[in-house]
Amino acid sequence: MFGSLDSIVNRGARWRLTITQRLAHLLAATLYPPKCCLCGFPGSSPDLDLCCFCHADLPWEHEPSSAVVAFRFAPPADDLIRQLKYHGVYANARVLGVLLAQAVAERAAPLPRLLVPVPLHAARMRERGFNQAVALARYAGRMLDIPIAPGVVRRVRDTPSQTSLSVEERHRNVHEAFALSGARALRKLLAAGHVAIVDDVITTGSTVAELKGVLLAAGVSKVDVWAVAGAAQARPSFLKSSGGGPSNLSSGTFPT
Ligand SMILES: [Zn+2]
Repeated sequence: MFGSLDSIVNRGARWRLTITQRLAHLLAATLYPPKCCLCGFPGSSPDLDLCCFCHADLPWEHEPSSAVVAFRFAPPADDLIRQLKYHGVYANARVLGVLLAQAVAERAAPLPRLLVPVPLHAARMRERGFNQAVALARYAGRMLDIPIAPGVVRRVRDTPSQTSLSVEERHRNVHEAFALSGARALRKLLAAGHVAIVDDVITTGSTVAELKGVLLAAGVSKVDVWAVAGAAQARPSFLKSSGGGPSNLSSGTFPT
């Protein structure tokens, strides 16, 4: 796994990065040397804040489909995500974003040309101060050399937290929650053709299914789904795109 991550970094460094970008990388690595975010040991590669032991112990998810879900929503990945999302531990976006890029790079599939982080509603954005999906997409996109387009889709309905809702209520909750931002956004999406939605956690999959529907309806030819973690019960639902999910899902512990 490290071999492939190193190869992304090296390939990027050799062929894709400008001198300025290389210097920025070097400076960042000098000022913020990678340190394991779980145990405090030195990081095991220049771009990853994890030691090799904690890296091996992560609850890696191996999903044989077009969706990339790096981990099960299980310790310690779930804590890293909660700290990022609810306690503003922004540094976790870097380690999780890089690991997501690694999970994506391990598939022998064509990469998307644009990343679309799941947008937050303006009210939620004011409350939290940042969108964790944008932060994750930024780091994953940097590793894979794919631009991100956080503004192309807006969340037009301030959907209540999904945490306490049943599966059916969650599907209704996100219905018509997203809209394209305008003609410029549409041109950007159509020029890319193949995009990936990026989210932190997928619980029932109703949110990404709704957003995927909006992008496909706009004329985007291929929409992948990338998430750092997925609740195990959710997988069948979101992998079947926007169709009705299984009805026996228990309420997860995470709002999507
Ligand atoms: Zn460690």
